[in-house]
Amino acid sequence: MTMIADNLHAVRSRIAQACTAAGRSADAVQLLAVSKTFGPEAVQAAFDAGQRAFGENYIQEAVEKMAALEHLAVEWHCIGPIQSNKTRLVAEHFQWVHTVDRLKIAQRLSEQRPAHLPPLQVCIQVNVDGGPTKSGVVPDEALALAQAVGALPRLQLRGLMCIPEPAPDFVAASAVFARARGLFNALNTAGLALDTLSMGMSADLDAAVASGSTLVRVGTAIFGGRSYPAAT
Ligand SMILES: *Cc1c(COP(=O)(O)O)cnc(C)c1O
Repeated sequence: MTMIADNLHAVRSRIAQACTAAGRSADAVQLLAVSKTFGPEAVQAAFDAGQRAFGENYIQEAVEKMAALEHLAVEWHCIGPIQSNKTRLVAEHFQWVHTVDRLKIAQRLSEQRPAHLPPLQVCIQVNVDGGPTKSGVVPDEALALAQAVGALPRLQLRGLMCIPEPAPDFVAASAVFARARGLFNALNTAGLALDTLSMGMSADLDAAVASGSTLVRVGTAIFGGRSYPAAT
């Protein structure tokens, strides 16, 4: 498991370099370690190397992992698609959700958030590159959804999240991420107080940081290749 510690160190260096190159301070970007498909021992190894925030796609798998790691002060982020029948598990077990793209799901999360827990921290997923079958609200509808979600009592709206298609190179990736940043800025200009722009993964985190990401979600570069695919 020292491999995970070494990988984490390398990813943190990569983020720091990307920040420097973009003239941003090294603490401007948070690292979310995406542990989907890996067991509790992998999370434990990353935790021992100082990592605290972990992202999971599969709700059921995540809840089992949480039970095995109850003794650790991990901050759990849901980054997978959420069906209506899974909102209760998400509301009861996670601190963050990045993948809200419909008001109905947000309403259920707010209603089901237990009273003894702090508000659920939420990002709205935006379909910035226009894939017709993809998750995420279209950019034109992001402001209205953000305002509605921001008004729900048990949610705290923190920002936007996107998962663009893999781009051929740094310039192309940066252009798509810059559109997300533009939308993020526009929503703040419209009166929202967003502080989180969740974008960038193992392959494109450098471009995402260059374009203003505040949180990168990194799996493969920390934990290695996955033996079953991600639900996105
Ligand atoms: C799997 C996943 C990641 C991490 O992807 P890597 O390429 O392994 O870094 C990030 N975000 C989401 C939404 C994912 O599903």
